[in-house]
Amino acid sequence: MRGAPPAEVGETRETPLFISVFDIFKIGIGPSSSHTMGPMSAARRFLDEIATGAWPRPADVEIDSLRVTLHGSLAFTGVGHGTDRAVILGLAGFKPDDVDPAEAARSIEQVRATNVVHPAGHKPYRFRPAVDLVFDREVRLPGHTNGMVFLALGKAGQVLLRRVYYSVGGGFVLDDEEMSRPRATPAQSNVPYPFANAVQMLAMAKRSGLSIAAMKRANELATMSAAELDAGLDRIWAAMDGCIERGCSTGGVLPGELQVRRRAAGIYDQLAASWARNDLGPLAANDWLSVYAMAVNEENAAGGRVVTAPTNGASGVMPAVLKYFLKFEPRASREVIREMLLTAAAIAGIVKTNASISGAEVGCQGEVGAASAMAAAALCAALGGTPTQIENAAEIALEHHLGMTCDPVGGLVQIPCIERNAFGAVKAVTAASLALKGDGAHAVPLDTCIETMRQTGADMSERYKETSLAGLALNVTAC
Ligand code: SF4
Repeated sequence: MRGAPPAEVGETRETPLFISVFDIFKIGIGPSSSHTMGPMSAARRFLDEIATGAWPRPADVEIDSLRVTLHGSLAFTGVGHGTDRAVILGLAGFKPDDVDPAEAARSIEQVRATNVVHPAGHKPYRFRPAVDLVFDREVRLPGHTNGMVFLALGKAGQVLLRRVYYSVGGGFVLDDEEMSRPRATPAQSNVPYPFANAVQMLAMAKRSGLSIAAMKRANELATMSAAELDAGLDRIWAAMDGCIERGCSTGGVLPGELQVRRRAAGIYDQLAASWARNDLGPLAANDWLSVYAMAVNEENAAGGRVVTAPTNGASGVMPAVLKYFLKFEPRASREVIREMLLTAAAIAGIVKTNASISGAEVGCQGEVGAASAMAAAALCAALGGTPTQIENAAEIALEHHLGMTCDPVGGLVQIPCIERNAFGAVKAVTAASLALKGDGAHAVPLDTCIETMRQTGADMSERYKETSLAGLALNVTAC
């Protein structure tokens, strides 16, 4: 953690940059946004920096090889999270949003066999994954636990270019200079409703008479057209829906030493048969929510195509609640799904600005807790909730994830992550329902809950923050 003093509720810890709905919902591959997508993006960014040529070196010296060192949580759980594979893919020139999982597997095999990466637009570089990809568990870099050092080396092993990057959660990557730079002000972000916390969001909604989704839409339209925004939102939902479909139709065993059996497809078949008989028992709503969430997180664990929401580890909650809403609510439409995504992104932006969405920073409360708050707010909005009811729904959902640690068994995003997403979805629906029964007045403001999460995360031992050194990860042994 960065160790900032407590903020007054209603104030923000840092003046934020505008966080777009497409920063929150990013299409990529599993199993982890911070440990897979972030490192892949960092590797790709390093290549881009090499390509600019805007760094000092003797004219006659060429880059011969690349070396990457992973620190902190990336070193402890990187193998289970696929960080090694992500770095190889990034250095081979892939980006999270355009990599095909099957092509990725072939490319990794090729790099491991040849010890060479050859990204488009570059000469081939020597990169021996077994030697040049280092997991340093001793040193934690100062900026964040998910630190990475990238080196470009000359033939004699001399360092030609060195860059430090941090994967700060949800696939976001900052270099060391960006980590220490003061953030831009809301005015600089140039959006009409620059709310940085829930108090400001509700005040702006009251003044403008707009819904949270409408304000978020107006903010997005500062940088893109309505057609681009809607097409992007539809693409996000299509990727989420496709992920549910694949997860509900794929059996077998997940990668990794735990040999975890995929359950979603079997559960889905049972539910579909009951549905066809019109046999909706008292558990139907829970079961459908759970199977959708588990389907997504099994796909994520298998390295499939998923959408960060706000992270990969928590990627099942939002799609589950959206799909559940479509199944059980006859009024559901494409427009409502867009509004739900925008509402959820508004909540995620507030959480990210004032606390964190990174399990490595604040534990799972920041991942599945944030996802549940987003989904609760989205569902509440879709069911006609007022801004204060929506804020209440988000708060209820987050409040009941406070203190939740991140302790993935074997460093794999499988146990407890897959079932945990099902519970995040169920809590989101309960939170939305409770909020809709009230008038929006409630004892714990969302901003207070988020600040509590930040403080709890700061107090939490590092062992419970995506290091697999404690909790279930310590007590459950791999087969
Ligand atoms: S325990 Fe939670 S935060 Fe940790 S990897 Fe799993 S889903 Fe992510």
